[in-house]
Amino acid sequence: MSATPRIGILGAGGRMGRILIQAVKEAGYQLGAAVERPESTLIGTDAGEMAGIGAVGVKVVGSLEEVVKDCDVVIDFTAPAATVHHLKVCRENGVAIVIGTTGLNDEQKAYLDESATETPVVYAANYSVGVNVSIKLLELASKVFGDTVDIEVIEAHHRHKVDAPSGTALMWGEAIAGALGRDLKKDAVYHREGHTGPRERQSIGFQTIRGGDIVGEHTAMFIADGERVEITHKATNRMNFASGAVRAAAWVVGCEARKYDMKDVLGFNEIKV
Ligand code: NAD
Repeated sequence: MSATPRIGILGAGGRMGRILIQAVKEAGYQLGAAVERPESTLIGTDAGEMAGIGAVGVKVVGSLEEVVKDCDVVIDFTAPAATVHHLKVCRENGVAIVIGTTGLNDEQKAYLDESATETPVVYAANYSVGVNVSIKLLELASKVFGDTVDIEVIEAHHRHKVDAPSGTALMWGEAIAGALGRDLKKDAVYHREGHTGPRERQSIGFQTIRGGDIVGEHTAMFIADGERVEITHKATNRMNFASGAVRAAAWVVGCEARKYDMKDVLGFNEIKV
């Protein structure tokens, strides 16, 4: 392996791909390769120019096979079928892979698990370091407050978002429920209207706001009589996902073949709180 990791970006021309190229350069790592669909009009262009940061001397190519030898690790933010193909190439070549693509079906997830027995794989539905740190804080607050508070999660996103509550809000709810030994399927309350009766302590409430261009905001409230703790995360652009994924890529180079997540990357298991 080279002194600074050589990182390949798969889906280089996508919304995330372009920011990832910028994040690799900002972190001082080498851009090993930039890969797009073979039929993309971007093939042959300079990856840095495409990403808006000026020429970097790496051309966009149409397949990972062409450039896999130039990479110590690749970051994949593409689409599920492409991710499966990239996993296959990585396991054949012993190259680590960081996967951000969402929406994998059960079969594709099983292939990911199987591939991780042969090459290191990092997989996270949210690479934001802040969102993952917030989860650790939620677990701490939930354990300390226990059943002495009412817990509500509020999230806000832009008006184009089609699902509610957000995947991150649900991830937060799972973390809170897990720390309290509750079952989110049973205890989540997604809707209140009319004569609801008094609030039950076990409930974990979710409130959704949609509007304008809000990138993503989440707040968990731990509400007692006489005081309230609020844990909030606000995303203002996509760079927070990209820098987290680049951090994961640099971390996973040289690790043994296994499936990892952001808790491993951020060393949560070693932090005692
Ligand atoms: P996008 O559509 O803008 O970009 C995807 C890119 O992948 C496109 O440029 C496309 O041409 C390219 N691509 C498709 N097939 C390919 C192949 N076989 N080889 C190479 N390139 C290929 O989408 P996006 O907004 O950048 O998001 C990409 C994925 O990342 C989505 O699944 C999204 O949900 C996910 N995402 C995850 C996180 C996270 O933190 N985990 C954050 C943001 C987005």
